[in-house]
Order: sequence, then C-alpha cells, then structure tokens
Amino acid sequence: MNVTANSVYDRQKPIGNGESGVTPGGNSGSFRDVLSKNHARRGKPPVHFADMTPEERVETTKQLGMPKFRVQQLANHYFGHFSNDVSSFTDFPADKRDEAQREFFPNLITEVTSQVADEGTTIKTLWELFDGTHIESVLMRYPNRATLCISSQVGCGMGCPFCATGQLGLTRNLSTAEILEQVRVAAKAMAEGRVAGGPGRLSNVVFMGEGEPMGNYKSVLAAVRQISAMPPNGFGISARNITVSTVGVVPGIKKLTNEGIPLRLALSLHAPNDTLRDELVPMNRRFNSAAVLDAAHEYYLASHRRVSIEYALMRGINDQAEHAHQLARRLNHYGDDWVHVNPIPLNPIEGSKWTASKPEDERQFLEILHQSGITATLRDTRGSDIDGACGQLAAKNINA
Ligand code: SF4
Repeated sequence: MNVTANSVYDRQKPIGNGESGVTPGGNSGSFRDVLSKNHARRGKPPVHFADMTPEERVETTKQLGMPKFRVQQLANHYFGHFSNDVSSFTDFPADKRDEAQREFFPNLITEVTSQVADEGTTIKTLWELFDGTHIESVLMRYPNRATLCISSQVGCGMGCPFCATGQLGLTRNLSTAEILEQVRVAAKAMAEGRVAGGPGRLSNVVFMGEGEPMGNYKSVLAAVRQISAMPPNGFGISARNITVSTVGVVPGIKKLTNEGIPLRLALSLHAPNDTLRDELVPMNRRFNSAAVLDAAHEYYLASHRRVSIEYALMRGINDQAEHAHQLARRLNHYGDDWVHVNPIPLNPIEGSKWTASKPEDERQFLEILHQSGITATLRDTRGSDIDGACGQLAAKNINA
C-alpha cells in the first residue's frame, strides 16, 4: 500500500515485494501519486548496528581492527541496556569508541518535542530523522503494561480520507534501525523511571503509528525479530506482545502467516461491505473485504492468535445498527471466537467531514456485536488530547 523511497518504478513491481512496498491501485492509475516531490533526492539512512547481519557486524569490527567479541559487547549495551552511547561503554577500548560510535551507532532519530498527557503516563514524541523528515511515536503506560505505538514509514500512502497521516501521503520507508530506535528510547525511558509511575519495563509494541507496515515488510520483520529476540540479540519483548496492523494488504498478511511468528495481527477494517470500504479504505479496491477477511482468518488458523479488527466509528457513515449487524454476520461466517473487534471512537481531524459517532450509537454498535456473540471492546482513546490516538499520528505540516 505504499510507494517507497526508491523510485516510481517500484509501482511496476509485484505486490508484496518486501523491498518496494505496495501502492493502492497499482498500475491502474486510479490513485493519486503519493510520492513526495523531492523524495528521490533523499538518500538512505546511515547503516546502523541494528541494520547489519551478524556477519556484517563482525566484518565492520574487523575493519576497525578489533576482535569479533567486541560485537557481543556492543550488542549487550544496545539491546541489554538500551544504550547507543559508546563513550559510556567502559568495557570498550577508549581509543576505539569514536570509530565504533560512527560505524555502528550513527544518530538516527532526534527528539524535536514531547507532549505529555494522562498525568504523565502518555508521551507523544516527535522525532526528526537524518533527512529532516519527521515521525511520531506514543508511549502509553497502564497499571499492568506499557505500550509503545511506533511508525514504520514517514507518512502513509494509503490515503484513508479520515486519517491525519493519510493526508500527508508517503515520503519514505523507515530503515530497520529507525524503527528499532523508537523502541530503544522508550524502553530506556521506562527502565530509568522517566515515565510517571517509576521504573518499569516496556512490555508491548504496536505498529499503529504512521505508515502501513506491510508496505515496508522487510524492515518491519527485521525489526520485529530484534524487538522479540532475547538480549543480547534483541530487546526481549515477547512476539505475543507485538501487534502488526494493516489496512489489508493480502500478500503481506499471507507472508506474515508463513513466518510462523506469534504476533498479533490487527486488521483496520472500518467498514462491513465493499461499497463503504472502497470509500473509507482505498486499498479495498485492490483487495476487497472478502479477500482480506479470508487472509485474516487464515492467519488466525495458523497462529492461534485472535485477530484484532479495528473499526473507527464515524458518525452516520459506518456506525449504524445495519453496519453492526452486517459486520457481525461477516465475522461469524468464519466461526466463533477468532476475532476481537475494537470499535474506536474517531478523533476528528481539523477541517474534516468525518466526525466521531454519538455515544448512543457507539453503545448500540457494541451491543449488537455482543448480542451476536462477537467479543468487542470500545478502544481507549488515550492521548486524544495530544492527537496521539489511532489515525491521528501525523507530523503535521512539517514533512517536506
Ligand atoms: S488509517 Fe492507517 S493506512 Fe489509512 S492512511 Fe491512516 S495510517 Fe495509512
């Protein structure tokens, strides 16, 4: 669903190509070109420790004239202690620290601003990347867990009309390390007690920030593997606590199914039929709701993980009783207990015709799902006062 940083020629490549991402509408010309005008001039982010294979790390270490056990030390600091500041690695030779800093840990994300809400337990951070583009991540601490919502692309090419990020279009994919750095910084903040509630552990990661994760499949998967591997190979956050969301890129869902990693899949459905979904989620014109639900159900069968169905409730558009009944029918078609529906009260974006549902319609929607035997929870809109809720993660007007 995305056009990547590579070139417009990517749109000629087959769907599901992890390198290229995907574009809604493909070659049909039915979707606007979401490439930013100057993206071709952007280079690739500097290569970072987290982008390298084990062999590449050893090779770089050798080139710096160091034995390969130094790689293990760097990994311990980075993944075990969330540090990328080589000058503080006292077990590392002092005369090699500058070089190691440069070769392994170039600075990839720089905090621009942080907004705090919910009495210090929700923190939305705006990051500047090496090329001057921006992304956001949101850390939400609850009594029993701390969840980080991260971005996988700069902007998003899916063009969902109700979504702030969608209005920006896609600028480029993030590298694996740019994704991982968002996690490292949040894990460090938690460990050091810089989030209200004292020291704690980052326990959950959700790919629900900017971007369509399936459009940056290769980097997202490489990040997932390193988020979930135990230190010193990764941050040790269980794959079961990682959620990858999609608007329904079927080849991506199938690929993920075959990986055999027990991630949670979240499908942003937002509509119970194709007529409505074609409008709300343009990707539906490429992979319709039947194909998407089939793929999600196959994911459930293979992973034994219940699939989350995300459904942003929009006043008078998709939030009426008929929509709830139709959604229940379509989900029950596949059997019981395979999904968990999260109706999300929409956070209206400025100047948009899409508005949040009335509370009584939200209640009715939820009740109909429950009466139809569907597990459903009205999703928390934490962070909405700082534009940090789902679909609102837009680095507004600042990406070139
Ligand atoms: S809702 Fe998700 S997929 Fe759609 S434009 Fe927004 S970020 Fe992209």
